[in-house]
Amino acid sequence: MKIIRADVMGLCFGVRDALAVAESIENPRQVTIHGELAHNGLLLQQLQTRGFAMQSETDRGEIPATPQVMITAHGISGRERHRLESAGKQLIDTTCPLVRRVHDAALRLQRDGYHVLVLGKPGHVEVQGIIGDLQRYDVIPSQREVRRFDADKLGIICQTTMPECEITAIRRSVEEQNPHAEIHFIDTVCQPTKDRQAALRSMVEQVEAAVVVGGANSNNTRRLADYCRERGLPTYHVGGPDDLQDRWFAGVNCLGLTAGTSTLPETIDAVHARLMEIGAASERELRVPACRQQSPPCPSSSTPWTSAQWYEYFERNSRNLLPIPWGHPGRLSDPERRCIRRSIQEFQLGETGTGRHFLRRAADYARREGDDQYVAALEMFIREEHRHARTLGRFMTSEGIPLTKENTTDGIFRRLRHAAGLDLIISVLVTAEILAKVYYRALRDATSSVVLNALCTQILRDEVAHVRFQVERLALLRRGWNKWRFHGARLLHYVFFAGTMLVVWFNHRPVLQAGGFSIRRYWRTSWREFRLAMRIMNKCRRDLEAEETANPGYGRPCEQRQEFTVS
Ligand code: SF4
Repeated sequence: MKIIRADVMGLCFGVRDALAVAESIENPRQVTIHGELAHNGLLLQQLQTRGFAMQSETDRGEIPATPQVMITAHGISGRERHRLESAGKQLIDTTCPLVRRVHDAALRLQRDGYHVLVLGKPGHVEVQGIIGDLQRYDVIPSQREVRRFDADKLGIICQTTMPECEITAIRRSVEEQNPHAEIHFIDTVCQPTKDRQAALRSMVEQVEAAVVVGGANSNNTRRLADYCRERGLPTYHVGGPDDLQDRWFAGVNCLGLTAGTSTLPETIDAVHARLMEIGAASERELRVPACRQQSPPCPSSSTPWTSAQWYEYFERNSRNLLPIPWGHPGRLSDPERRCIRRSIQEFQLGETGTGRHFLRRAADYARREGDDQYVAALEMFIREEHRHARTLGRFMTSEGIPLTKENTTDGIFRRLRHAAGLDLIISVLVTAEILAKVYYRALRDATSSVVLNALCTQILRDEVAHVRFQVERLALLRRGWNKWRFHGARLLHYVFFAGTMLVVWFNHRPVLQAGGFSIRRYWRTSWREFRLAMRIMNKCRRDLEAEETANPGYGRPCEQRQEFTVS
């Protein structure tokens, strides 16, 4: 079982600094922690063992008995601060500076005459601190709670750990239901939360199940787990390695691991180590000869799969699709429909190609190479593209967006592929697939539609393997090329990719922006994906050439490969 850790996870600097302050206190018995320093049972137990007194977050009415009171990273209101100081308590303040920023924003809005809307969880200790100094406010936990407010000016701020997609949906509802009001939004979600959410989004696309580590009462950990579940992943929220159960991971080839902002690095590492033990045990049970192994969904080594393995992969993938909630009552709002209409028409059309010319070229190549299964694998790949076209088409029809039959960019792509040999066809396709990965990520987050979200998640999962399938073939096609030819082709591909990237940005900017992509983020994400694909291609090609020198005939059809593997 392969384990993919989210690029960013675990302890944020706010909680880390608060823990460091607690660590440095010499006489804990003199200190009461005013709430939970972190929503992590293990940590709280350790603090209690050291002698700290603790007040429950839900019951902080009584003045603590100790002379010193420690304010947690979640912060408290000015009123509460005043109450404790008036009782003669010395405060040890570890309020996170990013929480302070939210307090300041809320007070500024109030001073400027806005009715303050706090997007967050009612009763959460951070939210309590924010609203404690406000006179006119509402706490909005979800889109459902939005209503028409009796105020001419509405100021919106958010709890620091609020997911971006929920904020977008709530903001839209506030705007729709309060067209009379002047609305001022201040994005107060903290950067560590945004980084963790972005890392999670990218991890979720690559895995079949997820483990989320963090306290059961940690709001941000729960939100991470909810996000994975909403994307159709079996998700396990655990406090530590002892909570893991082997049976959860039967048949899972690729697992994602992430953690909330109050989870210690050593807890994450302990969970990771336990997962590796579980994975190693299940692999021992499942081991079968290489050519008959079930294709893992995330190829990870630099050895290209055989066509037979790819065929198996596509076949298996077709039986493991995410459920699409077609009956969900949520519909696109008019602004959402306007935003995505032309763009989704173009991408849906792009998925409909019959691939006749591609298949002809592939058949010639397969005959030359003796790779009988390649055309069959390619047909499966095209079938997946058609499934994307079908499901997007069904969604569009249900939303009253007509399908289109012609488009200039798509026409250029098709003509280019018709005029080309196999290497060029695949290079063009790789370009399109990589940019599609970025586009569908944006489309997924651009609207509040649950159906479109699920469709895009499925497409994104498929696209990971599509890119890999095509770059492996490029590696096979280019093995043995001299360096001039190879680097020339690579340079042309870079130029073509850069040009196409710009065209996609200018043609699909509204969707990309609504999905959270600035031009800078779009540019960086697209290049990162492209460079990753090229690295895989280069590595596969180099390894194939090295292997072929050692074993002439390597990298040909499956049966031959098996001989070499066995010997
Ligand atoms: S989650 Fe953000 S705001 Fe909260 S403590 Fe951590 S860094 Fe600060």
